[in-house]
Amino acid sequence: MAYDQNNVFARILRGEISCTPIFKNEFAWAFHDLRPQRKTHVLLIPTGANIDAADFATSASVAHMQGFWQAFVAVQQQLGLDSTGCRIISNLGADSGQEVPHFHVHILGGEPVGPLVG
Ligand code: AMP
Repeated sequence: MAYDQNNVFARILRGEISCTPIFKNEFAWAFHDLRPQRKTHVLLIPTGANIDAADFATSASVAHMQGFWQAFVAVQQQLGLDSTGCRIISNLGADSGQEVPHFHVHILGGEPVGPLVG
């Protein structure tokens, strides 16, 4: 499957849809989810054109992968989740219900997150 250049996160990265990132560097952006499922619900996305976690793992450069996960640590610390804990989730493809075909990690926390699958 080809990367959809018009998916909502690609449009956010291009500045076509407004967004207030809480973290932004050359590797990754983070912003609050429009429909938060927990007290803290942030999305972390890479700046490259990657459809999902598998595509990111096989197509992104090592520098980009490292930068992405270092961004995760920075966001976790920024939100205070490094002391309380959090859950990260990433959907891939139809069975997961992935809505936006640009790799992203949901960061959930700020309160007990609950059962893994609800
Ligand atoms: P997924 O089902 O894993 O693809 O999740 C996509 C997420 O993106 C959903 O939780 C949406 O609420 C969220 N979302 C969609 N559009 C936006 C947007 N413009 N800003 C922030 N979050 C968004």
